[in-house]
Formats: sequence, structure tokens, C-alpha cells
Amino acid sequence: MLTIALTKGRILQETLPLLAKAGVEPLEDIHSSRKLIFPTTLDDVSLVVIRGTDVPTYVRYGAAQVGVVGKDILLEHGADGVYEPLDLGIARCRLMTAAPTGRIRSRGKLRVATKFVNVARDFYAEKGQQVELIKLYGAMELAPLMNLADEIVDIVDTGNTLRANGMEPLEIIADISSRIIVNKAAMRSHHAQVRHLIERLQSALDDRGQGQ
Ligand code: AMP
Repeated sequence: MLTIALTKGRILQETLPLLAKAGVEPLEDIHSSRKLIFPTTLDDVSLVVIRGTDVPTYVRYGAAQVGVVGKDILLEHGADGVYEPLDLGIARCRLMTAAPTGRIRSRGKLRVATKFVNVARDFYAEKGQQVELIKLYGAMELAPLMNLADEIVDIVDTGNTLRANGMEPLEIIADISSRIIVNKAAMRSHHAQVRHLIERLQSALDDRGQGQ
């Protein structure tokens, strides 16, 4: 049996059509079901739908052999115990710094609010900028409005969320898209299945690239 751990939300919506093109379709509608495990059109493949931050954990321990997860999660939480053989090119966005529009930057230590504390620590350290990192779990753009932080590090897609809150994007830290990850031991134990899946996803991506 091969289990694929999928990231729920925006990434799931873009993953399902690709999986369908690769011949893997859940037997019931994932969006309207409260289930977490879904059999598929392939007898030996099932899907689980979980939070992105949990996907590398399931795959690292081999509870799922394969996962689909955003590069932002892999950068922040590390990719120990997994291979990253395929960039699906979906759910594209950027990990960026942002601040209130027109803000005059003060010297000295910056207070930075983010969910991505490890990525942010490395980024500012590389620039030689001293920071105090404030870990938040959501609505990062609220922090500067409430004087909790000078800047944020967050995911930016259209930039609408930032603009709606009087902020502007500043520097790109990383370009993000969703990746296939594979448990290292499963790459050997489930070699044929994993290789077959990756090949079919790759050709689904190639077809898409040719506008079919
Ligand atoms: P936007 O207003 O289009 O710039 O989208 C910004 C918000 O949407 C961010 O704060 C993220 O929480 C979320 N978001 C946008 N794209 C993604 C993505 N590919 N993966 C995860 N979250 C995203």
C-alpha cells in the first residue's frame, strides 16, 4: 500500500487535478467529506489530508510514503529523512519581508513577527541585521498595525492582503511552490510504485506545460 499525505487547503485544490491526470482519484469527494483517509481509483494507493506542517512528519516517520507540501514548510521545519524529487510548480508564492508602506526604518534592532522564525533568523543573520523574532501563528500583517513588530516575514501571492492592511512587500526570501517528498526508506521499499507515481505526475506537468 502507498499512502500519499496531502496538504489541505489551497494546495489540495491544485494537487487533486494533477493527481487525477496521473491516474489517482479519490473514490469520494474530499471537500465534502469529514474523513481523513481516502481510498483511490488505484487499489494500492490511498490519500490522507492533513495540515501542511504535519506532512513532513508523517513522511519522515514512514506513516505516509509520499507527501505534497509547500517549500515554505520544508525550509522552516527542515527536510530530514525525506527526498524531494519533484517540484509540482503549484501554489506558487513568495516568502517575503514586508513593512507598513513608506515606513522610515529605524536603526538598531528590528522586531519581526512571523510564523517562519527559522527562515527569518537565517535571512536577517545573513544580512547582518539584528532582530528580535516574535513567533505568531496567523494574521502576521496585524502585528505592525498594533505596534507589536516593525516588519513581518510572510507568504505573499498577489500582495492584496498586505495592501489591504497598509503594508508593502520589501525583499524576497524564497520562491515557493509545492513539492513531492518521499520517505527515504520507502524510496527503496516502494521503489516501483513511487517511481511510477513520479513519472505520471511528471508527464501530467509536461502536458500542462504544453497547454493541453
Ligand atoms: P495574497 O493576499 O494573495 O498576497 O495572499 C496572502 C495570504 O494568502 C498569505 O498571508 C498566506 O497566508 C496565503 N497564501 C497565499 N498563497 C499561498 C500559498 N501558495 N501557500 C500558502 N499560503 C498562501
